[in-house]
Amino acid sequence: MTSTASWANSAVLTERARVTIPGGVNSNIRLAAPPVFFERGRGARLLDVDGNDYVDYLLGQGPNFLGHATEAVTEAVTAAVGRGMVYGAQSPLEVEAAERIVAALGWAEMVRLSMTGTEAVQAALRLARAATGRHRFVRFEGHYHGWLDNVLVAAGGGAPGSLGQLASHLTDSVLVPWNDADALADALNAHGDTIAAVIMEPVMINTGSMEPVDGYLARVRQLCDEHGIVLIFDEVISGFRIAPGGAAQRYGVAPDLATYGKAMAGGWPVAALAGRAELMSRFGTGEVNHSGTFNGSVMAAAAVIATLDILAADPPYERISEHGAALKAGLVDLGERHGVPLRTQGLPMAFHASFGSPEPVTDYRSLQRLDLASYSEFAAMLARYGVWVARRGIWYVSAAHGERELTDTLERV
Ligand code: PLP
Repeated sequence: MTSTASWANSAVLTERARVTIPGGVNSNIRLAAPPVFFERGRGARLLDVDGNDYVDYLLGQGPNFLGHATEAVTEAVTAAVGRGMVYGAQSPLEVEAAERIVAALGWAEMVRLSMTGTEAVQAALRLARAATGRHRFVRFEGHYHGWLDNVLVAAGGGAPGSLGQLASHLTDSVLVPWNDADALADALNAHGDTIAAVIMEPVMINTGSMEPVDGYLARVRQLCDEHGIVLIFDEVISGFRIAPGGAAQRYGVAPDLATYGKAMAGGWPVAALAGRAELMSRFGTGEVNHSGTFNGSVMAAAAVIATLDILAADPPYERISEHGAALKAGLVDLGERHGVPLRTQGLPMAFHASFGSPEPVTDYRSLQRLDLASYSEFAAMLARYGVWVARRGIWYVSAAHGERELTDTLERV
C-alpha cells in the first residue's frame, strides 16, 4: 500500500484533535500510545498517515470480519448509492436483505434493519415488554449490550415511552453470573413473574471470550420457557462470525429474538433484529415503534447482501479455526519472550488474549482483571513492529483472510 497522506501527519492531527475533539480521536483505543491515525485499510492491513503499515489485530473491533475494503462489498454499496439516497422508504434491496438474513439464520422468521446494535437491542427489549406485559429484564455479569447502558445508568428511572421506557431496564433488572444455570433458576424462581426477557451474549465476548459451558444455553432456553420469558441472544458480536447463524447455530439453541451487526455487513454500519413472527409482528401495530432515518437504506441492504454472498460462496470458518491454533501458539510464545504472561481463550472465531496469569481461565471474572499498565506498554511495543492491537487486551483475530499474515508478523516481533 502506498500513502496518499501528504496533508497531515500524526503530530499535526494529534494537535488538531486535541483542540476540537474531546478525548481525542480513537478515544477507546488510546492505550496504544502514541495516537495513530489510520488513512486506509485493505484486507488485514492498515496504513497510518505517517506511512506505517500495520496488521490489524482488531479488525475494526469486529465489523471488518472480511478484512478492510472488501471489493465486492464496496462495489455493491457503490452501485446502491447510484440508485439515489432514498431514506425512510422501502426498497426491493431491503426486502432481499431481510430474506437473506432469515435464510442464513434458519430459526428466525422476520427481520428489521437498523444502524447500530444498540438500537436493535433496544427494539428487542421493548418487544419483549410489549409481548409479556412484564417490565424487568435479566442480564449477565460482564455482558455488553450497547451504549444505551451508559445512557440508562445516567437516566435513572423513567416514564413509559422511548428512552424513559427503557431507563428502568438497568435500575430494575436482575443481574446474574454467567454460565451458572442454578443462579439463573434461582433468580427466575424469585422474580420470574415480573421478568419480560433474559438477554445475553450467548458467547461472552466483550469481556474476554468464553464459551457457554456444555448444556448451559439449552438450560437457559428451558428456564425461559417454563417462566414464559422471552429469550434474547445479543449476537451483535458473535453473529455471522462464530458461524453463519452465530451462536444459535453453533450451540444448537434458538432464541426468540436476536440482534446482529458488525460482521454482517462487511464493515458498513448495519445492524438487525431478527425473531419469531409472533413477536416481530408487533412492529407496525402501534405497540412498538422502531424507526430511524437511515435504517434499512439501500446501501445498508446492499452491504448485507454482498457480505452474505461472500460468506456463502467462500465460508471462512474452517480456515479461521485452523489458523487460530497457530496464532494461539504464536501469542503465548510472544508473551514468554517478552516476559508478559499471556493467557488466551481459543475461541476459533473470536480469539482474545489478555494479560495476567498464564493459567487457563475458567473464571470469567478473572478475565476482567487486566494489568493495564503492562498491557499498554506491550501494545505500544507491538505497534512499533506493525501489529495493531488495542483496547483492554482484547484482540479479535477473525478475518476471513490474513490470519497467516498475522502469525508471520508475530514471529518477527
Ligand atoms: N451488543 C453487543 C454484544 C456488542 O458487542 C455491541 C457492540 O460492541 C453492541 C451490542 C452495541 O452495538 P453498537 O455499538 O453497534 O451500537
